[in-house]
Amino acid sequence: MTASSSLNVVFHGARIVDPVSGRDAEGDLIVRDGAVVTRLGDSHEDFTHVDCRGLVIAPALVDLHCHLREPGFEEKETIATGTAAAAAGGFGTVCCMPNTRPPLDTVARVIAFSEMVRRDACVKVLPVGAVTLGRRGQSLVDVRGLADCEVVGFSDDGDYVADTVVMRDALSRAALVGLPVIDHAQDGRLVAGGVLNEGPVAKRLKLRGMPAEAEELAVARDIALARLTGGHVHIAHITTARAVEMVRRAQQEGVRITAEATPHHMLLTEEDAVVVDSSGVNCFNNQAKVNPPLRGKADAAGVVRGVDEGVIDAIVTDHAPHTVADKSGSPGEAAFGISGFETALSSVLTLCHSGGLCLLRALHCLTVGPAGVLGRRSICPGLESGTTAHLVLFDPDATFVVDASRFLSLGKNTPLEGRTLRGRVLATIVDGRCAYASELLPGKCMGGRPLGTGRGDLSDSVPGSPDPT
Ligand SMILES: [Zn+2]
Repeated sequence: MTASSSLNVVFHGARIVDPVSGRDAEGDLIVRDGAVVTRLGDSHEDFTHVDCRGLVIAPALVDLHCHLREPGFEEKETIATGTAAAAAGGFGTVCCMPNTRPPLDTVARVIAFSEMVRRDACVKVLPVGAVTLGRRGQSLVDVRGLADCEVVGFSDDGDYVADTVVMRDALSRAALVGLPVIDHAQDGRLVAGGVLNEGPVAKRLKLRGMPAEAEELAVARDIALARLTGGHVHIAHITTARAVEMVRRAQQEGVRITAEATPHHMLLTEEDAVVVDSSGVNCFNNQAKVNPPLRGKADAAGVVRGVDEGVIDAIVTDHAPHTVADKSGSPGEAAFGISGFETALSSVLTLCHSGGLCLLRALHCLTVGPAGVLGRRSICPGLESGTTAHLVLFDPDATFVVDASRFLSLGKNTPLEGRTLRGRVLATIVDGRCAYASELLPGKCMGGRPLGTGRGDLSDSVPGSPDPT
């Protein structure tokens, strides 16, 4: 990706929501040569004009937690397909977890990964390094070496760092380089063999459950270790109301702890994991198998409250694409994970429409919130004049039915298939270039330079195509 660009657009009459500056007002936003400016300048004819009445412009979204699967699992996703899907979801920056094959646990592997990103990605990709070699939970990685390769944090995501001494050392060393340890907080032995939340639905379906306490025990331990070391622990995909309260109390006490939540753990519950088969029998929907699992109503509400009240800093996708075969078989055999990029913003906006969340807070948690967790405000430059255009345009009210066959992600695995959601992404501009333009966008064009001609035009990048540079 390059910063230079011939992108010239006027977005007319948008609601401009910029959590960086606190601006929330209707107005025109002008992008000239890929940068936000206050005036059109002399040569108007080069501009695309978009009718944005009823639409929202916000900074391009930041995702702290996703799985791009490359290297090693290219049948599930690649950097090219994953970042195309991210752009279609409104994301301009994504942080990818290191559980690739091989994992991102050495300097050489992170450097090789960054080369692939430079070649294939159409949004910014920031790697997270592993905590331990081979993600085996035993020997720490070269924390300083990986930090020098610009990893944004350390995580053995997918697995809990079970050894308390290893986690203590990880927090201490990560603190020395100013980075967080991102904690898949869940006691592994308590959830071994589990399929869904340990609760009434697991009982009904006679399936092994994963108790909320497995998460709460891990959160309690890692609060204690963050206090002990002064390190920064970031709780990944928090799912229980009690865990949120533990994080709140630790924050009040001054422990360096942040947290993230996924749209699916807020919008869905364990009841959404039940489907009725052709013979009328209740059974488990493998598409809803996710780790940590969907919880009950009270926990989902507790997580939403945590976002609303500022305990949870970031809303993340935990985008975890899988092949059809990976998600097939018995509930015990099916892989964990949801393909999340292309439904995340819509899921959040659906929550906003139902009154569960306020739009400003939600957008904060999708932009400056995650940037702040990483201590990298620069990845969310905001929409003020003079900044490189880095934004998402979306229709907050549009309704649509989720059809995974239309995802740009190779992963079509979603429990939201067939559900009606509110809110659609129309365009994503990354570093002054159009990374995604929806097929709905030409309908919003109101003259000026026609869409579909020339570089830098809003329809220049066909969804799914790699960046031209
Ligand atoms: Zn995880």
